[in-house]
This record gives sequence, structure tokens and C-alpha cells, in this order.
Amino acid sequence: MKLKIFTVLLLGMINVTLAQTKVKAIKAGRLIDVVSGEVLKNQIILIDSNIIVNIGANLTIPKNAEIIDLSNATVLPGLIDCHTHITTQPSGDYYADIFRKTPMDYAVTAHIFTKRTLEAGFTACRDVGAAAFVDVAVRNAINNGEIVGPRLKVATLFIGSTGSHGDLNGFSPFLSWQFPKQMSGVADGVDELRKQVRYNIKYGADVIKFGASAGVLSEEESVGAPQFTQEEMNAIVDEAKIWGRKTCAHAHGTQAIKMAIKAGVASVEHGSFIDEEGIELMKQHGTYLVADIYNDDYILSEYGKLGYPQKIIEKERLVGRLQRENFEKAAKAGVKIAFGSDAGVYPHGWNAKQFFYMVKFGLSPLQAIQSATINAADLLDWKDKIGSISKGKFADIIAVEGNPLENVSILEKVKFVMKDGITYKNELKK
Ligand SMILES: [Zn+2]
Repeated sequence: MKLKIFTVLLLGMINVTLAQTKVKAIKAGRLIDVVSGEVLKNQIILIDSNIIVNIGANLTIPKNAEIIDLSNATVLPGLIDCHTHITTQPSGDYYADIFRKTPMDYAVTAHIFTKRTLEAGFTACRDVGAAAFVDVAVRNAINNGEIVGPRLKVATLFIGSTGSHGDLNGFSPFLSWQFPKQMSGVADGVDELRKQVRYNIKYGADVIKFGASAGVLSEEESVGAPQFTQEEMNAIVDEAKIWGRKTCAHAHGTQAIKMAIKAGVASVEHGSFIDEEGIELMKQHGTYLVADIYNDDYILSEYGKLGYPQKIIEKERLVGRLQRENFEKAAKAGVKIAFGSDAGVYPHGWNAKQFFYMVKFGLSPLQAIQSATINAADLLDWKDKIGSISKGKFADIIAVEGNPLENVSILEKVKFVMKDGITYKNELKK
């Protein structure tokens, strides 16, 4: 009996010792409070395991804590990208990407992109469309610590109507894929769409993504035309809601944007041709705008070389300029903005290049940072877990040299990355 008590005591002591060595103290020279916009000087962030347990200027650092000295840096919460396609990026051969690759290729290389994204300072992403549930496998492998990458919320299959942006167009009708029909994400009519939503959720979707309008990087004709009826969009959003999932809509066109908002989506992706009525509707419904306003530059300069058909590049030329102008109108009108870059359309790890454009087109640097922290966390339903450096949240923390509130492009050179209490990058070490 005595031996038993002794063993219990001993085990207890070991546990305490283990717990104490997990304590980390970050010395932050400057810390951006993304909620208030204040820059706090000489803060200490105490982390126990993966959780922020205290922040303040005059905290006592526990004796056995690991000290991370970021006293010459500016510290921020980890960035969040609400629109990525982290499992792929263009290889340089348009037709090979479509016809010679399989989801197995994506599954093999995705870990390269997740690591790059994390090392760029993006500690969480909402991944909005991937083939054959590769995104679910990637998310799970990251959560299990098997590969390195951001926290992920994944949409799995992009849901689109027959002939839409989500379908494969412009090729022979005799061409078909050898996999279950539902794995294409193509569905029409209320019943099929409800079933598609259930199918996506059954195999791991955290969020539902559908194509409300036509798109740019596919070979269907129009960019903006609606590709579902109002009834169909309502059914998708309603079915997702039953299963506790939010919905986001790929929508460039003026009318499709309004239809998606009325259906109740949490966010409009792209939003290129939004008009004043659409802006008003977004404000009324509290819908987030997730507009990828950097990648236009990359597509126009690189996609010709990557073998994309000229008609796709022409569509981009039309959309890109208007998208930026309309983003500015929406931002200035007070529409809620969440950061989403469409990384995967351009190289992963370049996500932060978009901050410059967000500031150029209507946001203050603080608002741009908020769009990628506190706003993004809200859209992802992770507001209690990430998005700010606050007591009780996960220790997802980054640092840069200089002040991103003066020059937001500094965020393209993140020097320190911690996710879940683990340091993945520290180029500030002397
Ligand atoms: Zn996208």
C-alpha cells in the first residue's frame, strides 16, 4: 500500500517536471494587439505547452522556462488565409496538370506546400477545394504531427453544376473520369445537391464550397453568369447548416453574388463584379468578402508561359482590374473583409503579397492585418482559439523585423513562426 502511494507521488512529481519544461516565455519587443490596434512594448508572453497562459509587461518568467528572445522584433498572431488550394499549384504544363496527373500526385507533393505556407507565417488556412479528399488526408496528417503545415479547415470537393466552373469543359464528351460520380462535385437540382453536401461532409468537409457563378481559370464561356438557381443555392446552404457547416460561394458575377448572399453564405469568394446593391446586402447579412486581389499580377505575367489557353488569360485581364476597384468600394463601405489569397493559383508561401494590394485598395495596414487574424478566425469559427495573442488561445505566433503597421509588405518576410507552441522557424536568433 505504502509503495503504491509512493509510486503515485513519484509519478505526480514527474508529471509536474514535464509540465514545467513545456513552459516558454517569449520576450516581445513590440506586440501588435490586433483587436485594439495598439502596439504594446516589451511584453512577455507565457506559453504552457500549446496555450498562451499570460501576457504582460511585468510578468515573472518561471525559472525553468525556455526563453525566446524576440525583443528586437514585432510580434503578431499567426496569419490566417481563408482561401487556399494547398494541395496543388500549376506545374508549368496546363494539360499535364489536368490529364496526366492524378490525386495521388497531389497527395505526394502537398506536404511541400503546407510547409511553405506555415513558414510564410500562415498558421491556419481555410482550404476551399481539392480533388478526391486529398485535403482531408493532409489536414489529418498535420493534426497528427506527421507533416508540417497550418491548421486547416477544408472544403473537399468544389460543388458545381454540369458545365460550370467546377466541371471539366471544352473537351470531348467521350472523355470521362473513372471514379464515383459524386467525387466530381458536379451536381444539379435540389436533391442531388443536398446529397452532394452530405457526401462531402461524410468524407471530411469542415466547410462547404460551391460555384455560384462562372469563373476565370476554366474554359466555360462567361465569367460572371450564375451557375445555380436561387433554389439550388438555398438548398446547399440549408443542408450545410443542418450539419453545422458554413458555406462559401465562388462568385464573380453581380447577380450570382446577390443570390449567394440571399442564400445565406458565410463568405463570398472573389466578389469581382459586386455592385452597390450587393455591397449593401453583404452589410445587412454580415457576409464576409474574401477577395483574392493579388494573383491577377501573377496570372497575367506567368500563365501564358505556363501554357494556359489565351481565352483564360483574357478573362483574367477583364476581371482583375474591376475586382480591385470593387474591393475598394466594398472595403470603404464597411463590408466585413477576411484575407483570402487563392494560393495554389500562384506559388504557395507567397500568400502575404496580397497585403500590399489590400492597403493600396482601401484598407489601413491594421485593417489588412485584422482581415488575416481576428476577422479570419471569426469566419473560420475559431475566434476562441486563434486570431489574436490572448490568454487561453493557441500559441500561434509570428514575428517580423520592423513595423508592419507602417509598411505592411514586411509581412512577406516573416522571421519567426510558432504554431501550437512549437517553433518552426526562427531567423532572428543571433
Ligand atoms: Zn479558389
